[in-house]
Amino acid sequence: MIVSPKIFYENCYGKYAIPAINIFTLEQVFGLFSAGQKANAPFIVQMTPVARNYTHPEMLLGMIKAASRVYPKATFAIHLDHGNEAHALDAIASNHFNSVMIDASHDPFKTNVKRTRSVVIEAHKKNVLVEAELGVLSGVEDDLSVEEKSARYTEPAEVEEFVKETQCDSLAVAVGTSHGAYKFSGGQGIQFHILKEIQNRIPNFPIVLHGGSAVNATEIRRINEHGGQLKTNAKGVPPGDIIEAIKYGVCKINIATDLRLIWARVHREFFIDTPDQFDPIIPGKTYMEECEQFIIEKFDLLGATGKASELKL
Ligand SMILES: [Zn+2]
Repeated sequence: MIVSPKIFYENCYGKYAIPAINIFTLEQVFGLFSAGQKANAPFIVQMTPVARNYTHPEMLLGMIKAASRVYPKATFAIHLDHGNEAHALDAIASNHFNSVMIDASHDPFKTNVKRTRSVVIEAHKKNVLVEAELGVLSGVEDDLSVEEKSARYTEPAEVEEFVKETQCDSLAVAVGTSHGAYKFSGGQGIQFHILKEIQNRIPNFPIVLHGGSAVNATEIRRINEHGGQLKTNAKGVPPGDIIEAIKYGVCKINIATDLRLIWARVHREFFIDTPDQFDPIIPGKTYMEECEQFIIEKFDLLGATGKASELKL
């Protein structure tokens, strides 16, 4: 069942959070929907413009539609992650998205407001929600790269005006997380005092945390034991920080890196441990199951398990 994220946020605010899983492949889509139905948990399936164009935009949408027939109790929303105006307008026009992100966070405040507002006007005509971003995350996501030195936290004093002027429906904030596998190489972690001040300025307004992967050290170790050369200072968001962030109005937590790491680990182990094998469905099946298991555990951590059938629509 497709549900607007607006319903998710009204139900979960301050109590639990919805994982927003970035998908690129068949195995991820299948694992995600299977996990959602098994755990009776609401989720957001999201894709970047790069993911949409990896094959063709029709492909991921087709897989999502098929997965929702295979798992009819899966309760989900479809979201475009990190779009510009052209990406967002294309997704809105497709009639397949409940929600789009316009990321103008690298622009000055007034430009960000203007660009975000222009997408909100079009989106709201078709009941599509808009996620905007204020503040800049460091790290790498697809073709998006921001120098660590230019990273800047969300300025709490700006959030009220931003939300009022743009009429966006949720706000991604920069409070210390970053994209990719090296979130806290500076060692600072989530800045809860900033998050708290943001919540005070926009109470009951859904906040989105990008870069929410845990970057499990065991995954890094297993990848490196099988020929990988990931830096061991790779570090994600600790589970305790995620739980804490929910209290401050974080409703949506974006997860992309963790599924990439599991992909790398499963395939590296398969090729190193069984060098005589070359059948894609063997590691593919393992990866599907590992994605499902990972996401079921994530639902538990975020408090979303069992919540799909309890949603007040
Ligand atoms: Zn992001």
